[in-house]
Amino acid sequence: MRFIDAHLHTDMIEDNQLQKLAMMGMEACVIPSPHMFIGTHSADTVLLLWERFLTMETTTARTLGYEAFTSIGIPFFGINHADAECLLKRLPDFLKNERVVAMGEIGMDTGTEFEEFLFRVVLQGWPRGLCQLLGLILVRPLPARAGTGLWGGFLVR
Ligand SMILES: [Zn+2]
Repeated sequence: MRFIDAHLHTDMIEDNQLQKLAMMGMEACVIPSPHMFIGTHSADTVLLLWERFLTMETTTARTLGYEAFTSIGIPFFGINHADAECLLKRLPDFLKNERVVAMGEIGMDTGTEFEEFLFRVVLQGWPRGLCQLLGLILVRPLPARAGTGLWGGFLVR
């Protein structure tokens, strides 16, 4: 049996806890880009986070004894529409990185117009057809909050 955590926010967990996971046999993880940011942020904040996943989080993972991969997502909460458009333009470059194995987190937690816009854009691929080009498929649909009838998850290569 192999132990790969497909949804591990390493940036929100102390290293000693991650080391325990590695000691229990975790070989690799996927670090998801959060779909909600507390506070108000800019596209630059999200870009710095994506860079962090591909640099510091990857290096730390190796040091602790596992491999880190990441998913790239645009938060629906904490940035504005203009910043989201800016990030959508940068998204294709990040998706070319071999450590980026997924898009997300995505979902429909609140059902706002902005969240729905991002959800549809990611599902359709950005620019249109990008998901198909990179071989991205949707996996692991998750139940959303009770009563919404909507769902979320990752798109992975
Ligand atoms: Zn998460």
